[in-house]
Amino acid sequence: MNRIDPPPPQHKRLARTGLAAAESRPRPERTFNGIPVSPGVGIGPVFGTSEPEAVIHHRIIDTAEIGPEGARLEAAIVQSRKQLLKLRSRLTMLPEDSQSEIAPMIDAYIRMIGPSRLIRGVRRRIEENLICAESAVTQEAEAIAAAIMSQAEPGLSAEDKASLKRRADEVQEIARRLIRNLTRAPFRSFAGLPEGAILVSESLRPADAALLDPSRLAAVVTEEGGADGHTAVMLRALGVPAVLGATGLGQAVKPGDTAIVDGVTGQVTLNPAPPALAAARKAVTAFTRERQRYARLRRLPAETQDGEAVELQANLELPVELPRIIQSGAVGIGLLRTEFLFMNRETIPDEATQTESYRAIVEAMHGDPVTIRVLDWGGEKEIEALALAGIVPEIADANPALGLRGIRLLLRRPELLETQFAAILRAAMAGPVRVLLPMVTTVGEVRAAREIYERVARRVRRRGEKIPEKLPPLGIMIETPGAALSSDALALEADFFAIGTNDLTAYTLAVDRAESDVAPLYDPIHPAVLRLVQFATEAALRLRMPVSICGELAASPKMTPLLLGLGVRSLSMNASAVPRVKQMIRSVAIDACVRFARRVMEQSDPERIREMLDAFGAPTEQPGRP
Ligand code: PEP
Ligand code: MG
Repeated sequence: MNRIDPPPPQHKRLARTGLAAAESRPRPERTFNGIPVSPGVGIGPVFGTSEPEAVIHHRIIDTAEIGPEGARLEAAIVQSRKQLLKLRSRLTMLPEDSQSEIAPMIDAYIRMIGPSRLIRGVRRRIEENLICAESAVTQEAEAIAAAIMSQAEPGLSAEDKASLKRRADEVQEIARRLIRNLTRAPFRSFAGLPEGAILVSESLRPADAALLDPSRLAAVVTEEGGADGHTAVMLRALGVPAVLGATGLGQAVKPGDTAIVDGVTGQVTLNPAPPALAAARKAVTAFTRERQRYARLRRLPAETQDGEAVELQANLELPVELPRIIQSGAVGIGLLRTEFLFMNRETIPDEATQTESYRAIVEAMHGDPVTIRVLDWGGEKEIEALALAGIVPEIADANPALGLRGIRLLLRRPELLETQFAAILRAAMAGPVRVLLPMVTTVGEVRAAREIYERVARRVRRRGEKIPEKLPPLGIMIETPGAALSSDALALEADFFAIGTNDLTAYTLAVDRAESDVAPLYDPIHPAVLRLVQFATEAALRLRMPVSICGELAASPKMTPLLLGLGVRSLSMNASAVPRVKQMIRSVAIDACVRFARRVMEQSDPERIREMLDAFGAPTEQPGRP
């Protein structure tokens, strides 16, 4: 076994600092410029963090070692996958708009750690080149990254080049994680990060950014990184003021330093003098005021200028979101994603556990309605407990988005649906509830689910449990083009529609949101998507059946006039979007919205539609956003 070229460990380190270690002598003010990637201004003590470099011993192996080396690789893959799944499930603690931006990136990592070109290549290199797993990972990742970057021909747009760079970075990121697990090098920890600190680091990986608690941080600055990288996207999604690429800052930072980070201009001021500090405090106050303005809206009704009431509700993914939902001014939960109950556990929750969870949420809403969607497994939503129970395969199908998703799995394994229906029916004694079926595409599915629903109700009653005399309404998600186009038939079977524009966009445009190559094509305002929304809405309205929109589209105030103009009067969104959508609702009149919708629906070019949406007297910007 030969040892070849061990790379020298890097010694670029940042001192851990904090207010406690403040020096007595004031240090001069210095400014650094970087790339502003997430707006807002942060003031606070600087906290430096670094990650010990993984030391790799590149080795040649003999044929007898191929097996053990492969086993080491498999163990590192399993561990990396576990870490990423854990990271993925931690995302549910974040605001929903943060999640929806960050999750696809983590999902891309998870996919890459599966049966990908990278992993296949690493295995082959161990076997054919007789090198250790660390060397094989390094070489294969470098080869793939180089192949990706070789596509960056001179004529390519800056956007396309950035996209190639992101893909190459993704491969290197997975390689680094595998190598850390192979060499048992520790991962970065944010333990000890003081409240309100400014995190300064040479670089920050996207997976690190996803571990940050935005409520504890004043800002983030790194010396490396750019506006297009995943880290930047994550920091924006977290709403933390951030500047990347502030070269030289790491060397300059000393224990006890404070800093101002301006995420709009990209300026970082180390040890600010009183005038700079005063100006920064003003900027922070302006941001806070804007947020407070939205908070005041909470008590005002969601009503248009001409007195048309709109039902404004929140989506819930985790019970910890409840206080924020209540504070947001949302009147009820329009989409309770029950996947959280099944995640981070090894067994499937039983009826009693589910009943308690649903009941607690229904009670917390104090009489406001709660729409509980039954389990939507599939696509990018992975649930370990289902795999462990042998209900779903451990390795995802080649095409999971088109596979056994949502209601399809539930009808295949009706025991899951029966337990969930029983729990929801029992929880419905605590307040108004509706039951929602995901990923419906045929009337047969609705009929079959209703049959089970009624049978479960009879059984629960026979058992002596109390459930509402009149069963809660049973509605369906409209989230595939098939469902939208057959919505007139589905409307005869369902009690209400909830239009899920996230999946509807993906399935209509045949775009996987997690696939960065096609990300620009994921466009919910593509006329094809809007026409399907219109078609389904009209089918519901003809039967005077309730219809709501609960995809991300509903959270954009720019969309509000169009959706109202199409006849939608119920919107459900992440809690943080409720105030700004309410502000928009309160600023428009239905007549104008109807005229506007008519003009928009005549368009065939998404860019023209975007211009029209922008031009329709948008309200003031979102707090903390450009
Ligand atoms: C949707 O697809 O729009 C939706 C609301 O469901 P989810 O995001 O949970 O798939
Ligand atoms: Mg969906």
